[in-house]
Amino acid sequence: MKSSVALAALLALITMSSCKDTTPPAPTEAELPDPKLTEQWEPVPTVISSPAGGVPSDAIVLFDGTSLAGWESVEGGDALWEVKDGELHVVPKTKDIRTRQGFGDAQLHVEFRCPPVVNGEGQGRGNSGIFLMEKYEVQVLDSYENKTYVNGQLGSIYKQHPPLVDVARPPGVWQEYDIVFVAPRFDSNGALVSPARFTVFLNGVLVQHDVVLRGPTDYRGTPPFTAHADKLPLRLQDHGDLVAYRNIWIRELQLP
Ligand code: MG
Repeated sequence: MKSSVALAALLALITMSSCKDTTPPAPTEAELPDPKLTEQWEPVPTVISSPAGGVPSDAIVLFDGTSLAGWESVEGGDALWEVKDGELHVVPKTKDIRTRQGFGDAQLHVEFRCPPVVNGEGQGRGNSGIFLMEKYEVQVLDSYENKTYVNGQLGSIYKQHPPLVDVARPPGVWQEYDIVFVAPRFDSNGALVSPARFTVFLNGVLVQHDVVLRGPTDYRGTPPFTAHADKLPLRLQDHGDLVAYRNIWIRELQLP
């Protein structure tokens, strides 16, 4: 018994000596680096304004409630959707519409409303879509209490990324997307340098965080990226459902 007590004491002594604090002493005030060494003064960020509930001053307004002047039909010619009461309404069978201007990296704000009268189910209910560069779709769907494949529900990057949470509002209620899109990069031989990426907020909630795409968001198959222009139009989908849009604006981004 006595020897085991002595052994324990010895072990404690060894442990104490091996755990000796080796942390160097805190530097004195005089030894700390000059705080100016970690200050950055250039380049100075551009000054813009962004009123509460309004549009940032450097945004391009794509739909202000009155005009479709900045849009055309994907079939060519004027966009045939209806502007009514400050809203933009899909007119079924008139085809998708797209902006006349092209965009690359961008921050996009879009408000939308799925029909108040529920008609259909799954992908056949309040379906539309927001296609960056005409190829990469952020899904618009009335998926409120409406089961469908999760990478096709509201908040998904169609057929690629389900949303982190389901924050869909009921049919007939206005909802909003805030989307950050990073366009894919291609080298001069057309090889992919970096894929497209999305960060998406739906109704103020993060639903996609810097997700990487594997190519265009097609209905069938998994096509790879193929080289395209640096800037391409934004397209809205006529899926045959009476979806409405309002307050659409975009900010072109100069990402590092
Ligand atoms: Mg769609």
